[in-house]
Amino acid sequence: MIQVNINKNSFADLHLHTNFSDGTYTPEKLAAEAKRHDLKAVALTDHDTVEGCARMAVACAALGIEFIPASEFTAELGEEEIHLLGYFLDTNNPKLLQELAKFQEVRQQRIRQMVERINDHGIPLRADDVFTLANCRSPGRPHVARAMVQEGFCAGMDEAFDRFLKKGKPAWVPKFKMSAAQAIELIHHAGGLAVLAHPALNRNDNLIPPLVSLGLDGLECYHTKHSPTATQNYLQLAQQFNLLVTGGSDCHGTSKGKPLIGTVKLPCHYVELLKNRVLQRAVEGGFRLADAPPPLSPKS
Ligand code: AMP
Ligand code: FE
Ligand code: FE
Ligand code: ZN
Repeated sequence: MIQVNINKNSFADLHLHTNFSDGTYTPEKLAAEAKRHDLKAVALTDHDTVEGCARMAVACAALGIEFIPASEFTAELGEEEIHLLGYFLDTNNPKLLQELAKFQEVRQQRIRQMVERINDHGIPLRADDVFTLANCRSPGRPHVARAMVQEGFCAGMDEAFDRFLKKGKPAWVPKFKMSAAQAIELIHHAGGLAVLAHPALNRNDNLIPPLVSLGLDGLECYHTKHSPTATQNYLQLAQQFNLLVTGGSDCHGTSKGKPLIGTVKLPCHYVELLKNRVLQRAVEGGFRLADAPPPLSPKS
């Protein structure tokens, strides 16, 4: 793993998507954009997949950027959908890959169901067009929306979401999700840290204490859709519950207008704290230290 020189002007982005899920950038393009924004460390957090991590690791290594293998797990706590970020995952862990494959199948089946409902509304969209456009194992609603735009059935993605794909709209199909307990256990099993993504979007801070009981390691305090007040609130809650702090732009490339990479910059000392926790876990779990990432070497 690359060790970067961290100082107070070093920044990371720990929430990024590629075309291995619903982003538009390839891993190589994303790494190049990270370099352009002078990011010293990045994590790839594609939805329910780690497939892009191998290519992203190579691309980042070539550019001297520290890379953290990760994923954004779709999970639920009670009735609520939550997104759990798993950081420092062993992307070859057999159980992780087996479980992710199940949920990728769920996503593919859901695309077929959504397309059927769109067909029921007289729009002859074909599931194969969505799969061809998505060209990944973890397709989602944005791919359906893009296919509708591409085929001329909607003027833009927002129209596709507003008319068909939003929760409660005619083509919305609920997604079978893993439980929060299962997701956190899976992340830990693969050597990773479990972090609640964009908590402000759930508008329910009561979710946090039960997640802490399930082993949650951190809170994504800095996020594109967090107001400064929300960020302060989550920083305070992170301190209260002894949780790690993360942050990222949630960049999906050019699919939602302007790419967001570079707009949320997490100071690298937070990455150092994450690595310390991973190391501590490795020691407690009896892993060989050589398997665990080295700490960042601070230079001011
Ligand atoms: P899914 O995982 O299939 O439920 O899709 C969720 C994804 O849809 C998330 O990445 C959201 O950011 C994205 N999304 C939600 N609303 C919109 C919208 N109006 N335009 C584009 N993407 C959206
Ligand atoms: Fe997404
Ligand atoms: Fe998310
Ligand atoms: Zn995301």
